[in-house]
Amino acid sequence: MHPIELVIRGGRVVTEHGIGPASVHITRSYISSISIYEDVPDGAELIEAFDSIVMPGLVDTHVHVNEPGRTEWEGFETATRAAAAGGVTTIVDMPLNSIPATTTLAGLKAKLEAARDKLHVDVAFWGGVVPGNTAELAKLWDGGVVGFKCFLIHSGVEEFSNVTENDLREAMPELARLGALLIVHAEVPGPVETCCQSVTGSPSRSYQTFLDSRPREAENEAIALMIRLCRETGCRVHIVHHSSADALSMLRDAKKSALPITAETCPHYLHFAAEDIADGATEFKCCPPIRERKNRESLWDALKDGTIDFVVSDHSPCPPDMKLREQGNFVNAWGGISSLQLRLPIMWTDASARGCTIEDLTKWLCREPALQVGLHNLKGAIRDGYDADIVIWNPDGEFKVEPRALHHRHKLSPYNGEVLRGVVEKTFVRGQMVYDDGEFFGPSGRIVLRQR
Ligand SMILES: [Zn+2]
Repeated sequence: MHPIELVIRGGRVVTEHGIGPASVHITRSYISSISIYEDVPDGAELIEAFDSIVMPGLVDTHVHVNEPGRTEWEGFETATRAAAAGGVTTIVDMPLNSIPATTTLAGLKAKLEAARDKLHVDVAFWGGVVPGNTAELAKLWDGGVVGFKCFLIHSGVEEFSNVTENDLREAMPELARLGALLIVHAEVPGPVETCCQSVTGSPSRSYQTFLDSRPREAENEAIALMIRLCRETGCRVHIVHHSSADALSMLRDAKKSALPITAETCPHYLHFAAEDIADGATEFKCCPPIRERKNRESLWDALKDGTIDFVVSDHSPCPPDMKLREQGNFVNAWGGISSLQLRLPIMWTDASARGCTIEDLTKWLCREPALQVGLHNLKGAIRDGYDADIVIWNPDGEFKVEPRALHHRHKLSPYNGEVLRGVVEKTFVRGQMVYDDGEFFGPSGRIVLRQR
């Protein structure tokens, strides 16, 4: 038996049995037991959370780090620092926007090399499915990626091509054979091309122009296609950043028929509404787009009834000049929203206003994302034997989002100026305090390869 080195205790500790007083005993990076509040062994360091929430560290399975190759957009050091400040203890890096893309084993090795010694939190990796790389998929899987991403529409960068139905008919049986998950940017090009033509000449500063150019039909058709291919190939499918409320009934039915399909949405689709976005405010541009208020409320209903499984950031930054904020040009601006650091307070602000609980939050931000990437036996819960990944936060505290308090490489974010509820106080990764009230103690994050 190794001695208990650290005890984190408080009146509101979130475990599988609910929320209540407890002491979390930590031995050499993992949780060795959860005991009564009074039980603090001699010699152990004690962290008192008082009335703040002691919750599993957040897992964010949708983060674009962009290093190597586009480190000026975002890098491992800055992204994981922002994560630590946001109570996020594990991120999963997307396979595109970095150069090389993670579509070959060599690309994965370049990522692992670039990430070394820079991590404030734990990082896992997605591989990519692009036309013609089916032979690389098993190598990437054995190399430790947690699953694979593809795009059904232009990805925004040249080195990560989108796939067609024919490409998927080649790749999905191979992924099914491996038992690997396919995550899909679910918009098809047809409806977008048609709508882009019809908005030609409309004012490029108008949010409505952009919204009209990315219609719900593009998502709806993509979801129908992926449900069909999921059924035919047996490949597990996950829909990333879901936005169209019209497609929810298809997802609901597919889940009812026990197809292996899941979906996520993002804080921006649950927080903002198209009606409120000012002309020229390109920091709100992302694909698929933020839609109308009514659409947003349907997404909330779907999250509550389990049609949407969880909420991740889709943190996708770029240098501020690429957002074309001066011109306010929605047509040509880079699409992507920065919010890695803010997911917990955004979600708590909106979830608490809708009567949702901290247990709901734990499910959507910790447990279900960990399950998606097969890390659910290590992360996403405060439980015996799990990694001691913990966030302590005050659910009653409020703060105004200030660009200078964001640790992302670039500070442009549609949340700037918003007043949010829920203040992250301390973050622990495998028992190491990595963040405490504005101070960082890393880098002590690690690379996490797929659990076999
Ligand atoms: Zn993304």
